[in-house]
Amino acid sequence: TDPAIIRNFCIIAHIDHGKSTLADRMLQLTGLVDDRSMRAQYLDRMDIERERGITIKSQAVRMPYEKDGQPYVLNMIDTPGHVDFTYEVSRSLEACEGAVLLVDAAQGIEAQTLANLYLAIDADLHIIPVLNKIDLPSAQPEKYAAEIAGIIGCDPSEVLKVSAKTGEGVRELLDHIVAEIPAPVGDAEAPARALIFDSVYDTYRGVVTYVRVVDGELSHRERILMMSTKATHEVLEVGVISPEPKKVDRLAVGETGYLITGVKEVRQSRVGDTVTSAVRPASEALSGYQHPNPMVYAGLYPIDGDDFPVLREALEKLQLNDAALTYEPETSGALGFGFRIGFLGLLHMEIVRERLEREFNLDLISTAPNVVYRVIMEDGSEHIVTNPSEYPTSGKIAEVHEPVVKATILAPAEYIGTILELCQTRRGIQQGLDYLSEDRVEIRYELPLAEIVFDFFDALKSRTKGYASLDYDEAGEQAADLVKVDILLHGDPVDAFSAIVHKDKAYAYGIAMAGKLKELIPRQQFEVPIQAAIGARVIARETIRAIRKDVLAKCYGGDISRKRKLLEKQKEGKKRMKMVGRVEVPQEAFVAALSTG
Ligand code: GDP
Ligand code: MG
Repeated sequence: TDPAIIRNFCIIAHIDHGKSTLADRMLQLTGLVDDRSMRAQYLDRMDIERERGITIKSQAVRMPYEKDGQPYVLNMIDTPGHVDFTYEVSRSLEACEGAVLLVDAAQGIEAQTLANLYLAIDADLHIIPVLNKIDLPSAQPEKYAAEIAGIIGCDPSEVLKVSAKTGEGVRELLDHIVAEIPAPVGDAEAPARALIFDSVYDTYRGVVTYVRVVDGELSHRERILMMSTKATHEVLEVGVISPEPKKVDRLAVGETGYLITGVKEVRQSRVGDTVTSAVRPASEALSGYQHPNPMVYAGLYPIDGDDFPVLREALEKLQLNDAALTYEPETSGALGFGFRIGFLGLLHMEIVRERLEREFNLDLISTAPNVVYRVIMEDGSEHIVTNPSEYPTSGKIAEVHEPVVKATILAPAEYIGTILELCQTRRGIQQGLDYLSEDRVEIRYELPLAEIVFDFFDALKSRTKGYASLDYDEAGEQAADLVKVDILLHGDPVDAFSAIVHKDKAYAYGIAMAGKLKELIPRQQFEVPIQAAIGARVIARETIRAIRKDVLAKCYGGDISRKRKLLEKQKEGKKRMKMVGRVEVPQEAFVAALSTG
């Protein structure tokens, strides 16, 4: 295909603003799917159907289109649109020359959309602003057109207005895409260079790698080289999605499509890497490949200890499809055998946990998430702490560094006060506040990542009745007054409850944890002190009073079989108990103490 007639674009939108519905209309208008075969969210559904053995996602759909009698090829490239995968989003943006900014005309722009818009502007994409759902009675197209125009610096009249539902305005949008988005440019004679912008594991075919060819071409049966790992593979199949996968002989300059090479894990074919020819390799990769680094760690333990092998297998399987997921086995005195898992962020953590529980039928307990700390000792040595139990206990600590993020919150102006207050209590430093329109604001804060990983988003939602949206981005690290708080039962530390917290919050954490455990742990045959301590210094204390729990006392002599039954019952109950030193703690107490925050 002549690059001059190719247009590569993506759609940037918040969830539910209508991306899938708009894609449906485009498939219909371009004649790729006829009205009879059309079903709602066509590309999403194919994802599940696995037609022809390939997991089809809407990564890169090729649509023929004609404007003024001239044929064009439109490639619609999907973005993995969520906060934790900023790096992957930026890679898929690099595969395009333009972006459709799609905003619900009844809602206005959301924080993550704004963040992705900024990424697209940074990547020099041509932006086409579009308001969707103009058929809704609650739509306020004039108001939100002004808002978008203010953000991207255009005239409100340049914001297109469509209804993906009725199809109104969609043809005009396609015409704008053809007319305004630049054609791709590349060197057809140069050694091949293609950017991997997505990579998906498929049970039958192994990894399906989505690429955008920048220079040269990639063909069937050729040996390719992954530039970051130096691994070589044979191309078993090359094709385009239109809307089903279609084999082609080659992908040339400006084209997008997929490769199948028989690799079995997405980490062998990573987003952001450059594919070149093994025989005639390019000397330089496309823009720098970046390894995704975990930002948040948590311990995950099966509630039933027998499920440990199932959890291990589940993690192995998830990793096939998630290059960013890292894990290591760990043991906890309180929780038994489990794994310490590294996540890119909160959303990633939620998704992984949900998939483990749902797809693998596991009941899991997770420790409170923590960020990565860099502890610098007075002798100059350094410890990277991903688990509070690794916090150095001997030697003098000079400084502790914690990661910070730049957070952006979009919300109705009436909530400014409560949002500022929330950020202030989370050790935030305000960076800016701008009105997007007369009643919506953008608030920017620098915050310690540790202060938002736990319940910040929930707190924000409840303070703003769900109207605020949040996005955040790594912003380096800072030295902070941090301490490790241990929780001791009868003098023995319970590892799962240790936490690294800011000095000003250590007391609150200690008092809350001790109080909670007092409620959750049953009385023992002896008095059990619960203490919260920083090193050797106790900062909070509670006591569980002793009880003599003699089950046999209730059986007034006589009935031997009944006595035996009771003893057996008591034994069974003990199995679900964990011993912390001499103290018996029911598993449920750990679960409850950790899950309520
Ligand atoms: P996505 O999450 O961005 O892919 O959004 P969907 O395409 O799944 O749309 C979310 C919801 O909005 C669905 O219930 C759609 O039917 C509805 N929707 C999408 N576009 C329009 C539109 O133009 N008008 C109306 N009234 N509803 C729409
Ligand atoms: Mg969708």
